[in-house]
Amino acid sequence: MTEAAAPITQDVLTIKRILPETGKTNIIGLTRDQLREALIAAGTPEKQVKMRLGQVWQWVYYWGLRDFMAMSNLARDYRELLAANFVIELPEVVTRQVSNDGTRKYLVKVAGGHEVEVVYIPEEGRGTLCISSQVGCTLTCSFCHTGTQKLVRNLTAGEIVGQVMLARDDLGEWPVKGQPKPEQRLLSNIVLMGMGEPLYNFDNVRDAMRVVMDDEGIALGRRRITLSTSGVVPEIARCATEIGCLLAVSFHATTDEVRDALVPVNKKWNIATLLDALRAYPGLSNSERITFEYVMLQGVNDTKEDAHRLVKLLEGIPAKVNLIPFNEWPGAPYKRSSGNRIHAFADIIHNAGYASPIRTPRGEDIMAACGQLKSATERARKSKAEIAREAGL
Ligand code: SAH
Ligand code: SF4
Repeated sequence: MTEAAAPITQDVLTIKRILPETGKTNIIGLTRDQLREALIAAGTPEKQVKMRLGQVWQWVYYWGLRDFMAMSNLARDYRELLAANFVIELPEVVTRQVSNDGTRKYLVKVAGGHEVEVVYIPEEGRGTLCISSQVGCTLTCSFCHTGTQKLVRNLTAGEIVGQVMLARDDLGEWPVKGQPKPEQRLLSNIVLMGMGEPLYNFDNVRDAMRVVMDDEGIALGRRRITLSTSGVVPEIARCATEIGCLLAVSFHATTDEVRDALVPVNKKWNIATLLDALRAYPGLSNSERITFEYVMLQGVNDTKEDAHRLVKLLEGIPAKVNLIPFNEWPGAPYKRSSGNRIHAFADIIHNAGYASPIRTPRGEDIMAACGQLKSATERARKSKAEIAREAGL
């Protein structure tokens, strides 16, 4: 049985900053302070650094430029200095699949040859990018495909920001000089709901989101970003204080017994402890509610009694409940609840005064729906028996 794992170490951080092949620093993912330091270390005079930082930042994150020599408001010498010391590198897109419903899934290669998946979901007047925070996940939730992948490492801030940038590349969404800005963004929202537990890689996730939110660059508002956690209690408050984004919690059960089997991290921080942390969440208000994600598993957590218990547990927390019909994957030990069950459950929550939308599965035909992500090329797989054992089946 896999216990709730400890946070994994950050040793990959250095891999991406200074690329071993070239000795050059990748600009992508550096915070403003880090980039400032790096520009000084590369020879930028202190009295120029504020201006240079602003210029480089804008080229990279507002215009989406990748070529230092095309940074036309910089002196030629300075462009050469940049090119000699830095690179602007994104993770490599290995494959791109487009679903019948327009959902796009990118398989992306990061340092060390590992792969993660990124999903773009177009919606009416907006679009959401679902990004990954780790290769695989240490938390073996029994209904989640990612949780069956053995290999895990944290993504660097650059690899997280890079996912947003490569999606903007593919959508053709960088501004073009001399052309008016479109009124609506194609990539208007970000959810940290891909592979991995973002709160086990908090510092990198925070730095990446600060880059993405920065007003002089990609400039996505903090309320357009939602971080989903399985319930890593000690880190929850930092979402509000250090990022300011919205919070979603993978709740999925109304008793500790069932939640222990579905979300093993519950053995470390049980339902009562998790709810205490949510009640104390610094960002909580009626306009910024916590989303409770609840996967609908036939015969496991989908009864009317469950719905009533859930309402009781939510008492006093500004919340909405997002019901996710289970998305199947090869070898999954569960089935999706029937439509009737899901609607009956939603009605009970709704009648108690909480929004209870049922999430429409998107991109199922390309295995891009919630919980289906796992790099297909990942060889180290858990067996069906291991998954079932961990699920307590
Ligand atoms: N690790 C984070 C974020 C990634 S998962 C977390 O667990 O919150 C995003 C959401 O999809 C979570 O609520 C997760 O529980 C849910 N999910 C995982 N597998 C699923 C599946 N097979 N079907 C439907 N939802 C699933
Ligand atoms: Fe990890 Fe989230 Fe999947 Fe659980 S549901 S295994 S925390 S990615």
